[in-house]
Amino acid sequence: MRETLSCLIQLQKVDSAIFELAKSRDQYPEQVKRTQAKVEECSAMLESLSSKLQTLREERSTKELHLKTEEEKLRKWEKRLMDSKKHHEASTLAREIDAQKRLNQEVQEEALRLLEQEETLKKKVDEIAQELATLRQQFDKEKALSDAKTKEFDSKIKALEADCGQYTKHLKKNVTTKYENIKKRRNGLAVVPVRDGCCTGCSMSLPPQLYNIIIQATTLETCPSCQRILYWEEGLEHGIS
Ligand SMILES: [Zn+2]
Repeated sequence: MRETLSCLIQLQKVDSAIFELAKSRDQYPEQVKRTQAKVEECSAMLESLSSKLQTLREERSTKELHLKTEEEKLRKWEKRLMDSKKHHEASTLAREIDAQKRLNQEVQEEALRLLEQEETLKKKVDEIAQELATLRQQFDKEKALSDAKTKEFDSKIKALEADCGQYTKHLKKNVTTKYENIKKRRNGLAVVPVRDGCCTGCSMSLPPQLYNIIIQATTLETCPSCQRILYWEEGLEHGIS
């Protein structure tokens, strides 16, 4: 059993190293994903603002076109007023001209207001477009780094996985299965030492009877609380007992 435990301890060491490497490796694609989300958000915002800007432009252009027609009409009326000889017709025309002038003035002011809104929005659109370009550059850089790092970590992990074989070959199938199952359930940590009478996996204080059994190292014992495989650190890791 002592040999089985030693194998399990070594296997756990290699697996822990693999676990840490995988954690380091996975940071890179996670960062890429976060930047990608920002790119998508920024791109959607740019699209929405650009479409608003387009609507404003169309609205202003319609107003300006309308104003042009109305001003032409006004000029015709003014000419007719000059030519008018009848007093009644002239005063009616003059009133209409005044009213039309006021209307035109309003349309002109609206067109101006739209132009101001347009300019403010255009500035915002340019800013967002610049931000999007920067984010896209950042994404490309991070993606390239992530691909390189994934490759680098994967090859390190592969080498360690090959190391696992030299330990598992000495273990019985049921022990390996047990180890793998605990590892899966317990975040990669299946074999832990007992320190000061406590399981270092979950800090539970072990019953003295179980502690004595673990010191003897003749059976494979697990923690009653976290179910991890336990060993007596001083005895096995340093080979004193
Ligand atoms: Zn425990």
